[in-house]
Amino acid sequence: MQRCINCLYYENHPFGITFKNGICSGCITHKEKYSLDWLTAENQLLELIDHKTKNNKSTYDCVIPVKGDAEDYFVVSKILKYNLKPLIIVINNYFLNEIGWYNIHNLITHFDVDSIIYNPDIDIYKEMVRTTLRKYENLYIPSHILYTSFPVHTAINKKIPLIIWGQLQSVEQTGKFSHYDKVEMSRWNRREHDLLGLELDEILGTGAQINQLKVDFYNYPHSSELKNVLGIYLSNYFLWDPLKQNNSTLKYGFKPQNNTNSFDVYERSGCSVYYKLHDLLKLKKYNYKKVTDQLVREIRHNRIELNDANRINNQYLKEEVYIDDFFEWLGVTKTGMDWFIKHKLTNYSHLIGKDNNNIKNTINIGNFLKKGEISKHSYLKYYKGI
Ligand SMILES: [Zn+2]
Repeated sequence: MQRCINCLYYENHPFGITFKNGICSGCITHKEKYSLDWLTAENQLLELIDHKTKNNKSTYDCVIPVKGDAEDYFVVSKILKYNLKPLIIVINNYFLNEIGWYNIHNLITHFDVDSIIYNPDIDIYKEMVRTTLRKYENLYIPSHILYTSFPVHTAINKKIPLIIWGQLQSVEQTGKFSHYDKVEMSRWNRREHDLLGLELDEILGTGAQINQLKVDFYNYPHSSELKNVLGIYLSNYFLWDPLKQNNSTLKYGFKPQNNTNSFDVYERSGCSVYYKLHDLLKLKKYNYKKVTDQLVREIRHNRIELNDANRINNQYLKEEVYIDDFFEWLGVTKTGMDWFIKHKLTNYSHLIGKDNNNIKNTINIGNFLKKGEISKHSYLKYYKGI
């Protein structure tokens, strides 16, 4: 299998990757960051915002979907500097621990912004998770579906003209598009990069015990409803440097989290499953983990050498993950979990750990890393009326 001579990516990256003289499209697109005129790009952004909001009659200028990540803090701080009035949309994917919820509440109160927290029907949501885990060995699809559709429905319903997203991963990771293309939000983009190339009815298909009438917000709006709403990605308009940006959000009170499977304490801080079963399934399918994406990013930003990154990556690929709490949350018995390990994680059972917080020493990169918090309450319950 072909591997980039500059970074750690192989040709099987799920977003799609191409090679030129041994260098991957992600590394080639990354180089644009150093030749692009970012001042002009920011002016283009300001013109676009002005054009979309000048006749706006809604209370809000834009919707900002958030997960409680450091990136959300960065996006909100940027947008507020332009004197825009955002509506923050939080999708409760039921995976957050106490650090994740703290980061969401702190974001809303620190920046003093209006917000909507959407708590999807928990039984339907869990059935979706069970279904996608069984069919695609992916537990994150239902969360991606809602995160990429509910904010769009909200913008349409409230007649808010803009949706502001942070990074466009298909540009940042594999360079599928150029920064110059200024790719916008679309149903196609969502299907290709968030939903494994699938639409909702294919995902549910047969076998899911779900009433189709109850999944309204999981469906992407029809294109006729979308004509007045524009979704843009800020990473097309700034020299996007996640580690540096995320580090800068500590001043707003963002709490990083230490975890066993990555040095990056910012990205997906507060999530109970991302660096655990989700990562293990990614390793099984694509032979890499989230930390691989993060090391590739650091190689490209010249903060780590390829050889060191490769060595650290190999260490993390051998790291154990704790999965008991996920199956407990899903309501699966010990026998069910054992069946899943035996049949779905056949060659990976040695990577299933018994300790939730066995944090080893980690690396430091360009002084942008700080010691994170340790989570004590996975899958913190936050439902309607609580
Ligand atoms: Zn590369």
